[in-house]
Amino acid sequence: MIRIDKELIFSLIEKNGFRSVGLSAPDGILYKLPELAREIENRYPGTSVFVFLEATYGTCDLQNAEADRLNLDAVFNIGHSTDIPKMGSKTFLIRAEYDVDVEAAMATAAEVLRSHGYTRVGLITTSNYGGAMARAEAILTAAGFEVVKSKPFPSLFEGQVFGCNYYAPRNSNAEAFLFIGQSMFHAAGIYLSTLKPTYLVDPHFGEVTDVKEEGDKMYKKAVLGIYKAKGGDKFGIIVGLREGQSFRAKGEWFRTRLSQLGKVATLMALRDISPARINLIRDYDAFIELGCPRIPMADRGFEKPILSYPQGLALVRLFEGKDIGDIFNMNVWA
Ligand code: SF4
Repeated sequence: MIRIDKELIFSLIEKNGFRSVGLSAPDGILYKLPELAREIENRYPGTSVFVFLEATYGTCDLQNAEADRLNLDAVFNIGHSTDIPKMGSKTFLIRAEYDVDVEAAMATAAEVLRSHGYTRVGLITTSNYGGAMARAEAILTAAGFEVVKSKPFPSLFEGQVFGCNYYAPRNSNAEAFLFIGQSMFHAAGIYLSTLKPTYLVDPHFGEVTDVKEEGDKMYKKAVLGIYKAKGGDKFGIIVGLREGQSFRAKGEWFRTRLSQLGKVATLMALRDISPARINLIRDYDAFIELGCPRIPMADRGFEKPILSYPQGLALVRLFEGKDIGDIFNMNVWA
């Protein structure tokens, strides 16, 4: 079960006198929002609440502009929290955490770590499992492991990662990592960013999975995409239109550099970077998308190679006659 920090929402409404607010959340939590909207409207008569049905993928994906368009006082973005309470002019980040019992999964994880001889372990997770970290650490410590503290990225909590920010594991001297949650993508991202053994610890099912096989597949796919793109002459440089994914300066840099290297490069802009839109541009050979580095990693039916920002940098390095470099340095904010 997921617990939304409704008390924070109520106190923000009361403190600020908000009369019209929006609610947004990732798909897995979206079904809870209409009920929450009714609860707010019943509790604060005269208040209007909009449920945003648009996808929201992360802290990068806010609705400040939409809030202005609808003339809302605030938007509560639920389920993508950091230590920063407010992002932009109107969006408040609201914590939503799974109520999970980590005992069984951590006992299995301890056995796995012991069987490999690892003693110094890093604990990593996303915001939805932040509350489980203290118990997980206590279990590991009691089992004789050293839980290594890593320097958190500014505004993220100890051990928190995003799909585009692996600062915590990259700045840790742990021998191996445990990722608490269900996202293979995040767990494999830790492995790919650090090349250290990483295990997905799923507290819902009590399962522990070594992510190496999946991570190696992702690495090969990413490298293959870069080499396929290298055969091209015409590149689309896609700047994301989601609020926190809009890296125009990076787009301009790619256009200039690729042009200097004798390629055709065109700036494009898109909100939902999906095959349905990209595949319409048939006479371009490959695309570099600057929105979210997760997009090229999912096999979603793109007809032409589509590269993330670090993959795009690798492509430029290859055109310059250099090696491919670190293609999973996904700390695009760092
Ligand atoms: S850019 Fe992608 S990985 Fe990063 S926060 Fe946004 S949705 Fe998550």
